[in-house]
Order: sequence, then C-alpha cells, then structure tokens
Amino acid sequence: AHLDRIDAVDGALHAFLHVDADGAIAAAKAVDAKRAAGEALSPLAGVPLAMKDVVVTKDLPTTCGSKILQGWRPPYDATITRRIKDAGVVMLGKTNMDEFAMGSSTENSAYGPTHNPWDLSRIPGGSSGGSSAAVAGFEAPLAIGTDTGGSIRQPAAVTGIVGHKPTYGAVSRYGLIAFSSSLDQAGPFGRTVLDTALLHEVIAGHDPCDSTSIPQPVAPVVAAAREGARSDLSGVRVGVVRELSGPGYQSGVLASFDAAVQTLRSLGAEVVEVSCPHFEYALAAYYLIAPSECSSNLARFDAVRYGLRVGDDGVNSLEDVMSLTREAGFGPEVKRRIIIGTYALSSGYYDAYYGQAQKVRTLIVRDFTAAFEQADVLVSPTSPFVAFGIGERVADPMAMYVNDLCTLPASLAGTPAISVPCGLSEGLPVGLQIMAPALADDRCYRVAAAFE
Ligand code: GLN
Repeated sequence: AHLDRIDAVDGALHAFLHVDADGAIAAAKAVDAKRAAGEALSPLAGVPLAMKDVVVTKDLPTTCGSKILQGWRPPYDATITRRIKDAGVVMLGKTNMDEFAMGSSTENSAYGPTHNPWDLSRIPGGSSGGSSAAVAGFEAPLAIGTDTGGSIRQPAAVTGIVGHKPTYGAVSRYGLIAFSSSLDQAGPFGRTVLDTALLHEVIAGHDPCDSTSIPQPVAPVVAAAREGARSDLSGVRVGVVRELSGPGYQSGVLASFDAAVQTLRSLGAEVVEVSCPHFEYALAAYYLIAPSECSSNLARFDAVRYGLRVGDDGVNSLEDVMSLTREAGFGPEVKRRIIIGTYALSSGYYDAYYGQAQKVRTLIVRDFTAAFEQADVLVSPTSPFVAFGIGERVADPMAMYVNDLCTLPASLAGTPAISVPCGLSEGLPVGLQIMAPALADDRCYRVAAAFE
C-alpha cells in the first residue's frame, strides 16, 4: 500500500531520491515468514520507513543530496540502518535532503526540491525535508532524519508531524555522512509521539563504532510516551524561554505557541518564564562551528575515494582532478560553507572566530544548566515561521539561516528536543519545541504525549 501511495504522489512531492520496491517487499516477506514460524518479532516489525539519504545503506544508492556522490553504493550499513533491518522495519527507500544536510528547505538538494504535502508550492523544511514530506504525505508512517542545527525538528514543525533530536551521543553516528561531527545526530519522525518513541528505541543505544556514543542505557521513551498519554502534567515545571519569541517571529506562530502554553497549564503543568541570555548568539556561533567542521569533513571528497571524478584525462594533474571534481560536484551552499569554515580555521583567524564560537557554546550550555534548575523542560516555537514558498528565500543565506533560531541552542548544547504539532497558522502547521536536559529524552516524549 505504501509503495502504491509513493507511485501515486511522489511525482508531485519528490520526497524520495530512490525507492527500493524489491528490497522492501523482500523485507516484508521475511517478517511474514518469521511470524508464520512463530518467531518473536520486535514491535515495529513489518512497519515501513523512509530513510534520509545521508545514512549509508549497503548496496543502495547514497548521495547525501549531492552530485559528488552520484552513483555511489556504500559497501556497509550504518549502525542505525543495521538496527532498523534487525528490527524487521521495512525500508522503502532513500529520501531527498539539502546537499550534505546544509539548509532548512531541501532546496539545496542537487536533485531538485521536495514539496510540502500541505501546499505543494511550499517547502517541507530541511535538511530532512524528504523524510518529513514522506511521513506527512502518507508515503511512510515513520522516517529517519538527522539534525545538526534543527533538521529534524524544523521539517517536523512545518509539515505537522513529530520529530525528535536525541541527546548527542544517544544514537550512533557510525555510517552517517558527516557534516558537523560535534553536532550531527540522527533521530526519528512519526505521525504520533508514541510511533516516534518506538522508532527511537530501535535506533538508540551504545555503539563501540562511534567514539562519541554514550555507554548508558537508552532513556525509556516508549514508557514515557505511554505515561504522557494520560495527559496529566501535575508536578511538571515548564519553562518558557524568554529569548525564543518576539520580534522576527510570525504573529500566527506566536499565537499558536501561547495557546500551547495555556494547554500545558491546563494539563496541570506549572509554567515559569526563564531567561537564557546567550541564546541570541547561538546563530552566530553555529554558523562558524558547523562550517568549520564541514570544511574538514568534506575534504574526503577528493575524486579518488568516492563517486564523481572529473577531468581524469591523463594530462591533468591529480590536484587539477580534485579541484575540477569538487567544483562540479558541490553546490553553491556547500562551497560557501567550505570557504567560511576554511577561513574561520585558518591561522590568525582561528582564535577570533572558531575559538570565540566555542566559548559562546560553553555559555549556552551554562544557560541551559541554570534554566533546568528552574524547570523540568523548556518550551519555544520550533521555527519562527510556517512553511514558506519554494524559491522565496534561496537568494538570501541570512533569511534561510534565521529558520534555525529556536533549534540551534539545543544543538550546540547536545541536549534533546522534540517538535510536536501545536496548531495551524494561515492553514499551515506550527510546531511546539520541548527541550530537556542531556539524557532525559524521556521528558520530551512525556510532555509531548500529554500535549498531543
Ligand atoms: N539549517 C541548518 C544548516 O543549514 C541546520 C541543518 C541541519 O540540521 N542539518 O546548517
């Protein structure tokens, strides 16, 4: 049924870069065979899923939304791919994304934009916009995204679904094509909080293949989602972050957010206002740290090891082949970030830019620590805007970067955050972001499930 749905609507949505119909049917049949043999099955066995194309999948195309990886078929599975397969979850295919996960609209894909199922002329968010559109457009009930600065939460918000960025280190990064290694984190999308929690428990957990993976038990997010569904938040202190609303936010978004805070209060939560004075510098810090790490990570695309190779004619030097390949293979946003990052890391500028941004990062962590002394969870809108029109912001990088205002603090601090639908503005979905301290992912799910 999901493959039929993809056939029917993906021409309009363009959520998928690659559909693996044969693999999906084989995986579904394998689950049926196990069920017939009376074998124990995991809770999501047989449930279809859409996978963001930043995650490597053995023998299946993995492009990361870039021309530079066109035609590449990885020789191995990412840890999360393996866990999904082991759980009997049926992978339908790979979803569209901003090239190397750089963007907020999926317009930076080398393969053309994805369209928002709520209004085909609008963006589905980014960079995991193929995954969010696949779930919102009923092509898949579950999807995987990655979130470096907001790329799970913002697409979830603007397509009216649930998306969670786990605590940094809770989900293995082994086999995720790296953008900014100190920030990248994979996580689940679903149409309900419980669905999202079930997928979270499939992918989370310690992995010796990732040196930043946390050797601790997975937060009990499914139990938290079930407990939250009783809709009682008495005893829970909710902090409204003063700095994450106000000028620059659409009035309809703020109205939905205020109504959401009222709902939390009516469910029994105690609502307090908290101040995080350094959050206003998160955008500047992120747009130095992420490009710096990307300039280093993307050096591996050297025309020798992966994908595209341009100008290898026996006359050009190796260096020429590398630069011709990178010139042809990377899109404008990726090039912009490599240049910014290389500059910020260069001798003489490192202390002024990269070093300074790292100090701001520490101040943001301290803001969170102080705020979590006053509240169990913090809330804000997920994005300052509803889905905007395709093409509206592409010419202005700053207009694109301000999409991340609300999501960046939790990225820089490595703390978990979920986005859950909280109403409509101009007929388009608005998201409520719920943030919790590191390793307390279950708190996000509990409050989100109560709110839902
Ligand atoms: N929009 C942000 C960026 O362009 C975040 C992207 C992400 O989380 N992958 O960097």
